[in-house]
Amino acid sequence: MKTLRDIDIDNQTVFIRCDFNVPKDEFGNITDDRRIRAALQTIRYCIDHGAKVILGSHYERPKPSLFDPKFSLYDVYKRLDVLLKIKNHLHFDNSKCGEVVSPAVREIAANMEPGDVLLLENLRFDAGETTNDPRFAKKIADLVDVYINDAFGACHRKHASIDAITDYFDCEHRAAGFLLAKEVNFFSRVLNNPMRPFVAVVGGSKVSGKLEALTRLLDKVDKVIIGGGMAFTFLKAQGYEIGNSLVEEDLIDEAQRIMDKAHKQGVKFYLPVDVVVAPEFDENATTKFLPTQEIPAGWMGLDIGPASTRLFREALNDAQTIIWNGPMGVYEMDKFAKGSIKMSHYIAETHATTVVGGGDTADVAQRADDVDEMTFVSTGGGASLKLIEGEPLPGIDALTCPGEEA
Ligand code: AMP
Repeated sequence: MKTLRDIDIDNQTVFIRCDFNVPKDEFGNITDDRRIRAALQTIRYCIDHGAKVILGSHYERPKPSLFDPKFSLYDVYKRLDVLLKIKNHLHFDNSKCGEVVSPAVREIAANMEPGDVLLLENLRFDAGETTNDPRFAKKIADLVDVYINDAFGACHRKHASIDAITDYFDCEHRAAGFLLAKEVNFFSRVLNNPMRPFVAVVGGSKVSGKLEALTRLLDKVDKVIIGGGMAFTFLKAQGYEIGNSLVEEDLIDEAQRIMDKAHKQGVKFYLPVDVVVAPEFDENATTKFLPTQEIPAGWMGLDIGPASTRLFREALNDAQTIIWNGPMGVYEMDKFAKGSIKMSHYIAETHATTVVGGGDTADVAQRADDVDEMTFVSTGGGASLKLIEGEPLPGIDALTCPGEEA
């Protein structure tokens, strides 16, 4: 895969597909700007090479062809303005017209000077983005000479600014940005050549979303630690009564097969030994800490308990590589966040190479103030899962040229 450094961008107009899909609070404030900061290296490199830079990103899921301030990239523009520190050289069409490549955008693009940066509106304001429409892709392509993909978090989607657009650039004019290259290289290094013991910590709500990844990880890791809602399907497969806890009945046999496979391959498999249960899914509900054997009928497990975190800490002790995807409980509610926060601390405390993947998981590490202690926090949840599953990423395939390996 070619990277930005391998192609000539001096004095060219460059489109950088970024992933500025940042979390915001109920007042619209950006609560975590890691994805914006992560793109700066590529943007600054282009500026330093005298390029004119056009940035594009999606933001959540707006209704196409309708401007809605809730989905505008205006807040991202304001944050970029602070971070890039290029004063009047950062541009944005704030006409709220809902058109991505608007007449105003064309005018700004035509008058840009080297070092100028233009941020486009939410690409999903155009219906063509998610339908991979070549006509929309061409509208963006017509503005620039070079295409750079730096949106790891969006590479698992066949969308116009990720896939169709690459048809308009030959191999000398398209490449991966530094962030994309870093993410892909890191994951392949960790997955293909890990220091052992290699431990996977997997959580989150459902087995179904991570089934493929789990199965593939069994061929790579020495230990698997399961927490979160998905643990209950495994516990049920083992014959435990799990009350009203989250369960995927149709995957109970599959869960058993995974545990059998782990056993056969000598992979140590850890499930929670105790849980925090509540009679309802509510921050203010009464809670009890109970062994997994004693979950009362009608109650649900919403976090792993203190004995589980201690057990998991023991299992993490000798790890040289840890890959963590998925929270251990309903961490969004303080009452059920302790298991995830403790696991974050324990993972961060080890001397292992630690890779955190997934928006929720990165959010836990952030709340636990452990991000600086982790080796690598991926900006893409879905995309990192696909890499673990060994699935090709459309965004990376589209960048690959004849004779190169995806
Ligand atoms: P995922 O998107 O599959 O990684 O799942 C993340 C979500 O799983 C978070 O929003 C958590 O609140 C949720 N979650 C974690 N543990 C549980 C649980 N025990 N019961 C219900 N939801 C859970």
